[in-house]
Amino acid sequence: MAKSWSPDSWRGFPIKQQPQWPDEAELDRALKQIHSYPPLVFAGEARSLQAGLGQVAAGNAFLLQAGDCAESFEEFSADNIREKLRVILQMAIVLTYSMGVPVMKVGRLAGQFAKPRSADFEKIGDEEIPSFRGHIVNAAGATAAARVPSPERLVQAYHQSSATLNLVRAFTKGGFAALDRVHAWNQEFVASSPAGERYEQLANEIDRALRFMRATGMDTESNSNLSTVDIFTSHEALLLSYEEALTRKDSTTGGWYDCSAHMLWIGERTRELDGAHVEFLRGVGNPIGCKVGPTASADEVLELCEAINPARIPGRLTLISRMGAGKVEDGLRPLLRAVRDAGHPVVWACDPMHGNTFTSAGGRKTRDFESIISEIEGFVRAHRAENTWPGGIHVELTGDDVTECVGGGDELRDADLDTRYETVCDPRLNGRQSIELAFRTADLIRN
Ligand code: PEP
Ligand code: MN
Repeated sequence: MAKSWSPDSWRGFPIKQQPQWPDEAELDRALKQIHSYPPLVFAGEARSLQAGLGQVAAGNAFLLQAGDCAESFEEFSADNIREKLRVILQMAIVLTYSMGVPVMKVGRLAGQFAKPRSADFEKIGDEEIPSFRGHIVNAAGATAAARVPSPERLVQAYHQSSATLNLVRAFTKGGFAALDRVHAWNQEFVASSPAGERYEQLANEIDRALRFMRATGMDTESNSNLSTVDIFTSHEALLLSYEEALTRKDSTTGGWYDCSAHMLWIGERTRELDGAHVEFLRGVGNPIGCKVGPTASADEVLELCEAINPARIPGRLTLISRMGAGKVEDGLRPLLRAVRDAGHPVVWACDPMHGNTFTSAGGRKTRDFESIISEIEGFVRAHRAENTWPGGIHVELTGDDVTECVGGGDELRDADLDTRYETVCDPRLNGRQSIELAFRTADLIRN
């Protein structure tokens, strides 16, 4: 791999999963426009996330990375963002309270639009039409016209990310996330589930603790740890021309940062060592994630660590394993061992979603809640056996009352999937399933 790097050096490497834009001049105009816009995040924020992830790598904190598989241009509203934040805050409280360590909260939001696809085309009746690649590229409708990539969508994605991030900052800094509102995050449809009831009890205990602190004279009102939270943003850095347009030189350190989000990750389909995605991301200062599927070898993973984090900065690299429930324990152990023995200070996170997707009898793409839990169990067992820290979870969820994953406390079945199947891409946990998952995860790691 060439030693020198620039924001466009990836252009000299083989690249996968890019749309066939119909009009290069139009694409160029959109990218120039985005390049002229302000950054969405600041380098200093990315560094503070990296410091927190360094604590995760050391076994002193936990990572909760969660949000949509793909954000939608159509489901874009304050309500939608607020419900997602609520469930992330609830899960983080459950994990923090039960495990007794700080939880770094990273949303798959404010930029999680572009989707890699297993096939470039999809068969609809007798016709082959281009696959849907996320609203940042084309529309989801099942017609050839809907699937034509439009560069205007890149600009729209920037604006939607900006508005989403603005609201996230307002909610997390403006009172909504204050710990004395811990009860208010429990939505009606979540509160009425067994996990929601367990959450209420935990919220009561937190209330009692806060009352105790006030009674001792502690100032809980102006303590920013109790009145605000940090939620960082992340997405898969798939469309490299978009990411390049938002890559800026930090005036403090002189280093390059991809200012489209705090953390960027490389997907399972684009993690080739000599590919454009690894080349681009190795050069930006943000904390970087990389998905690791069941075919990854220990050597490959070590080479990734060397390529992305040669300086061995704790928290710089998060390896997100997504093996499938049946493969994770045996598949992960050699990788944990190799990375541990090489002394790379990585965060290990578990994506229990992407290795457990199947098509239901009714033709819906779905995931079974018990397989998701079972992958987390295998992940924790593998870490126990290798004496490494199961540092976090990476999940697809929504705060809403959708029916996309089967199982969970409500025992959703195949036949229920049609009721409210709303995702634009992969099936997400609903609010109830998400809180249940947080409790089950905390129980697994604590025991
Ligand atoms: C995703 O996170 O939505 C995704 C496509 O994951 P992976 O790259 O692991 O398949
Ligand atoms: Mn997905």
